[in-house]
Amino acid sequence: MSVEQTLRELVAIDSVSARSNTEIISYLDDRCRAAGLLTQQFSHADDNGEIKINLTARSEDSRDIELALVGHTDTVPYDPNWSDALRLTLGDGKFFGRGACDTKAFIAALLTAVEALDVRRLKKPLALLFTADEEIGCLGAKRLADANPFTARYAIVGEPTALRPLRAGKGYCVAEITVRGQEAHSAYPQLGSSAIFYAARLIKQIEEISNSLKDDRHADFDPPYTTINIGVISGGTAKNIIPGECRFTLEWRPVPGQQTGHVVHLVEEAISEFQREHRNIEYKVDAARADESFETRKDSAIVQFLEQASAQAAGTVAFGTEAPSMIALGAEAAVFGPGDIRVAHRTGEFVPVDELEKCVAILGRAIDHFCSKS
Ligand SMILES: [Zn+2]
Repeated sequence: MSVEQTLRELVAIDSVSARSNTEIISYLDDRCRAAGLLTQQFSHADDNGEIKINLTARSEDSRDIELALVGHTDTVPYDPNWSDALRLTLGDGKFFGRGACDTKAFIAALLTAVEALDVRRLKKPLALLFTADEEIGCLGAKRLADANPFTARYAIVGEPTALRPLRAGKGYCVAEITVRGQEAHSAYPQLGSSAIFYAARLIKQIEEISNSLKDDRHADFDPPYTTINIGVISGGTAKNIIPGECRFTLEWRPVPGQQTGHVVHLVEEAISEFQREHRNIEYKVDAARADESFETRKDSAIVQFLEQASAQAAGTVAFGTEAPSMIALGAEAAVFGPGDIRVAHRTGEFVPVDELEKCVAILGRAIDHFCSKS
């Protein structure tokens, strides 16, 4: 089947993250088995009771995979006014459709590349991984890494990178911080403790932490250090009440080599200092999310291969990917695929036809390069 027809069929299957992905998984399972791969499904119900499945397809029954190729099956939602969201349309050398870019183009290229070869003749084990719920926090890949189905030596994580290999990415972490004081009539502030005043002091301290993090430099990123943002704050109940509570959201993106918990640790240190002086104030830190950063060496064989095949120097990635989960399986991982992330997640997302076709060729060569020689 042509890569275009495969992409058409993939786009026609509605696989937004809110729905179960059983339909697209069963399609992929059929295609993989027809290509001679051994498939295995890992299924669970998500928080809304929807069945979500991760699928693996291996060229042989081995736990030592040489090359793993990963594509996520879910897409972001689409505007109901986009009538062709699920119908692949061609115009101006581009294929349009929900998921056409992110990341069904990579999956279509992968299936096409695999079907062009005889997987039984591979000398080293190949695995394809199709994951659930990438768009809502790489949840499927994390689950699959926890299930630990095999180890992988090298991995290519499909994402729209305009065929540029990306070998490192910052982490992504969020914590909710609550400061509790004591309410009182604002005419008598000495009877209460203002949660907002204390939150403001802590935030000033966090700004200083943020500045100190600039010393831990990582030249390949822009900006080349861990960034911190307090994006949301709320507190108090009325202008004439000393506020009893103030909450804010702390978000940070750690550079590789820095623990995801480092920032929270610094914030907690600042908090314990405050608490020594002001025992009537309570602070609560809920670390809600801690996605690891990742980095694969410039001289890794997977980076070198993709640089040479794409004729593009490796870069770093600004958005979250499934690469840390592949690293958890032991892999040296790079993120790579057709289409541009800047057109993903919007009405009219597309993949350029020539990039899609080039990707088929590059993935075919990658499998040959890593798995055909003993
Ligand atoms: Zn994606």
